[in-house]
Amino acid sequence: MLFSKMFIPTVKEDPKEAEVVSHRLMLRAGFIRRLASGVYTWLPLGLRSLRKVEQIIREEMNRKGAQEILMPAVQPKELWVESTRWEKYGKELLRFTDRNNRELCLGPTHEEVVTDLVRREVKSYKDLPVTLYQIQTKFRDEIRPRFGIMRSREFSMKDAYSFDTDEAGAGKSYMDMYEAYNNIFDRCGFRFRVVEADTGQIGGSFSHEFMVLAETGEDIIISCDTCGYAANLERAEVGVAQKAVSGKKGAHRRVETPNQRKIDEVSAFLGISPDRLLKTIIYNTDKGSIGVLVRGDREINDTKLKNLLKLDELELADERTIEEKTGGPLGFSGPIGLSIPLYADMDLKFMEDFVVGGNERDVHVADVNVGDFSVTGFYDVKVAVPGDKCPRCDKGSLVATRGIEVGHIFKLGLKYSQSMNATFLDSGGKEHFMVMGCYGIGVGRTVAAAIEQGNDENGMILPLPIAPFEVDVLPVNTTHPESMEAARKIYNELLAKGVDALLDDRDERPGVKFKDCDLIGIPLRVTVGERNLKEGLVEIKRRESREFEKVPVSEAAGRIIKYVEDAKHR
Ligand SMILES: [Zn+2]
Repeated sequence: MLFSKMFIPTVKEDPKEAEVVSHRLMLRAGFIRRLASGVYTWLPLGLRSLRKVEQIIREEMNRKGAQEILMPAVQPKELWVESTRWEKYGKELLRFTDRNNRELCLGPTHEEVVTDLVRREVKSYKDLPVTLYQIQTKFRDEIRPRFGIMRSREFSMKDAYSFDTDEAGAGKSYMDMYEAYNNIFDRCGFRFRVVEADTGQIGGSFSHEFMVLAETGEDIIISCDTCGYAANLERAEVGVAQKAVSGKKGAHRRVETPNQRKIDEVSAFLGISPDRLLKTIIYNTDKGSIGVLVRGDREINDTKLKNLLKLDELELADERTIEEKTGGPLGFSGPIGLSIPLYADMDLKFMEDFVVGGNERDVHVADVNVGDFSVTGFYDVKVAVPGDKCPRCDKGSLVATRGIEVGHIFKLGLKYSQSMNATFLDSGGKEHFMVMGCYGIGVGRTVAAAIEQGNDENGMILPLPIAPFEVDVLPVNTTHPESMEAARKIYNELLAKGVDALLDDRDERPGVKFKDCDLIGIPLRVTVGERNLKEGLVEIKRRESREFEKVPVSEAAGRIIKYVEDAKHR
């Protein structure tokens, strides 16, 4: 492509509305433009990257025998009622009514539609297993769309769904997708990590997330420094540390703590460290009020708590409930004498002579021990922090890194096939539910994640396999005939070998052209300048390492072709 003919509206100034680097650079480099809140147009450069990601996805999905289909964005209410998600999905599901008063929604995901398709068409075990996928536009009515493509309302997604006759088959389908996803993100050129994840609104029993590592990532990844354990923060388990406990077991005693409600207030007032305190947090749930006990220096992980107790709803109790259940005001709750179920974090087992709330205004109780109240049991309910013990191995401790979720795979089991009655007949003519899995990749998000992972003060540093162009051939002076001739020769040679090359034939100042090339993140640049050309040389620069080398004009294309091949088959 000729730069002069392409629609590349680059911008010098940083756009004010952009909060994250990928959003800022995608606007500046002319990858995207905003149409409405959380809704974007992809411009030629951005779309080239998006299509390259799609192509890698297609190849790896097809390699595993998954078959591409294309389902509608508009979905009927009835299917969502069958799966019970019409009620559960909440306001992120954009609903509307057509002229015949039929209720519809814009699909945020396609479990209902694909399950309906397969239950109608597949009758026998002979038709299974089958994995279907699509690359299609989704809509989620995010409460606060932001970060550009990273959290938009309308977005491009690859979603796949597997249907098997049994658990073993579903496990194999899941592993196929696990491998395909590893191949996809490898081929895109990412540094990434696979982590255990929560199943959230999609439901099901088991899942992994694929995280592109980036310091600016929204998600926190907890991993072991010794074994392969890795999970996202909301799911991360904590191993039990058998720490020696200090303090003596004696009778507990009442202490006055006027106006000291918060952990740091109480610990300062009593002159003890926060880990000598026990927090008692009262929650309202769909199964009634509960109390959760966690050491004063730790936080409760709501996701783990919900999963542990199989709760649909979990929220902090209001002040009235707290007074009703404990007899004392907010900030003075303690476990002694409570009649609601008490779920204790594992740490409590190793605490002695600690301080709890007195269930009475301005009162705490000191020198408390586990025998002074009764708990339902001891569980892992706290948020993991770096330095915690690994839940899987003996030696490791946990560390935290940041990442961006680009892929998510789920073992769904029978969740949708049961609620939507998707069955097949086995060889004996007996009816069974299909066992399902679902697998998503945010395609646009993958492009944004690449920019979050690779950038510097000059712009994007994109991995070659998904950069809009692989190489920019840049004649410094377009009015110098020999320069243009050499540039065209190299450019044509590259095109002939299938290299995705751009020729910057614009009559612009060299500084502008160099800046644009860096901003767009083109991995390789061939600079054709008058001075070098006198010696028969051109200069090749690598965007990522900023390394320069001078090579004879005749060898330039060959060198670039080798770099491109290396980058694609690393
Ligand atoms: Zn470990």
